[in-house]
Amino acid sequence: MTTHTTIIWHRLDLRMADNPALHWAAAQGPILPVYILPDDVNDRWGMGAATRWWLHYALTDLAASYASRGVKLLLRRGAAQDVLSQLVAETGATTVTWNRVYEPASITRDTAIKDALKQQGIEVVSHKSNLLFEPWEIKNKSGGPFKVYTPFSKACYAATPPADPLPAPGSLSPVSMALASDALSDWHLLPTKPDWAGGMRATWQVSEQAAQSRLNAFIDAALRGYKEARNLPSGDTTSRLSPYLHFGQISPRQIWRATQFVMAEGKLPSADTQHFLNELLWREFSHHLLYYFPELPDMPLNPAFAAFPWVEDNAALRAWQQGQTGYPIIDAGMRQLWQTGWMHNRVRMIVASFLVKDLRIPWQAGEAWFWDTLVDADLANNAASWQWVAGCGADAAPYFRVFNPVLQGLKFDPQGDYVRRYVPELAKLPATLIHEPWAASPVELAAAGVFLGQNYPHPMVDHAKARDLALEAYQKIKKA
Ligand code: FAD
Repeated sequence: MTTHTTIIWHRLDLRMADNPALHWAAAQGPILPVYILPDDVNDRWGMGAATRWWLHYALTDLAASYASRGVKLLLRRGAAQDVLSQLVAETGATTVTWNRVYEPASITRDTAIKDALKQQGIEVVSHKSNLLFEPWEIKNKSGGPFKVYTPFSKACYAATPPADPLPAPGSLSPVSMALASDALSDWHLLPTKPDWAGGMRATWQVSEQAAQSRLNAFIDAALRGYKEARNLPSGDTTSRLSPYLHFGQISPRQIWRATQFVMAEGKLPSADTQHFLNELLWREFSHHLLYYFPELPDMPLNPAFAAFPWVEDNAALRAWQQGQTGYPIIDAGMRQLWQTGWMHNRVRMIVASFLVKDLRIPWQAGEAWFWDTLVDADLANNAASWQWVAGCGADAAPYFRVFNPVLQGLKFDPQGDYVRRYVPELAKLPATLIHEPWAASPVELAAAGVFLGQNYPHPMVDHAKARDLALEAYQKIKKA
């Protein structure tokens, strides 16, 4: 038994490089890395199906990285406090370390674990790793949290810049004893009956190395022009780093530093690089909000919205989820989500607006669907973004600004390529009609093989009327 073993408790930091807890532990002596799968399937915010799929591969990759350095990644299941206490008892470890996470339930859990371990005489050391600026590092003039993005981002730029990323460890020292570990396959994180993950397997390579390659490819090929092109869903115009960031397979600091590096070279327009950094700060802002307003995933930040006359309509919700609304840009987005576990940001905004405004279905229903189906499902980003679109969040888009799905389609998918990819039944329609097939003549529809009401639905609502109803509903809470 070794006396100075450090247990590294991995959570949303499934990487080797720039991992402060790992870096620190490796300098102390033998390490024992562990991932603990919580029994949270019945929790409202327990991991969704798509993130469980991602987790399987992320753990496979992390385990391989450890194995190549002679260390075994331990897998255990259960309540983290019990598992960690058990491991301390089994190994005689003197220290437990982790990188901090910021979801309200995790903070409560981690605080309790820290207290319990300290009472057992165990040293507990936590680190900053998943954010550039921890919520308490950025304060408004009166020392409170920010509720508006622009002053928040200005405060970030004025704060001490993020430190340089840490290198991946070279050699590591393992514990000398054999310890029982679950088999990853026994966790059944991958879907089997049915196996709905084929599109996700075809879309993603889930590894730390893949995250770095993606960052490099994005900087080389898409950062130039990002400010404008990021709104076009048909191309590879954004980094698609969000799931890697969520699981900590890449750190925000690595992305920040790589972007700063190309900024310093001066070869790319600063409008593009700056805009990309600003997007990373939206992620920071969401985490800031969730930390200070822990009810963010469930309750509208603007309390007036608690009285909004939402509509309960399961059939309409299902049509939206399945990409069968009759509005091509909405259906393309919802099908991209279902097939690949990801949706382009512009389209996320359009489909979310359609759900909460055209259908007047509560934003929480959309948030829950995204939670289950996105590989980047992230409590802070998802909740803050849904509240933003619904008009009830911090610094939100005003409720009365209702996206017109046809105009949004024509503007951001002018050739209809995005719709063609995900709604193949409309593929033969010309670009002028693809976003509003109902405007085509019977001859044009027949020539394209489109039979409305048969192989593609009629629009489920009339957008102009739906908009009026949404604004009427909004007036009710506005008056109140
Ligand atoms: P890029 O444009 O390359 O941006 C780089 C990174 O910045 C992203 O990976 C992400 O971490 C961050 N970022 C970009 N835009 C935002 C934003 N608006 N808010 C917060 N962070 C941002 N993002 C998630 O990571 N998880 C979610 O669960 C999530 N749910 C969303 C729900 C709705 C209704 C909407 C409108 C947006 C949601 N977003 C969510 C934000 C955004 O759509 C994604 O972060 C982005 O599309 C990811 O693609 P990317 O990595 O190519 O982004």
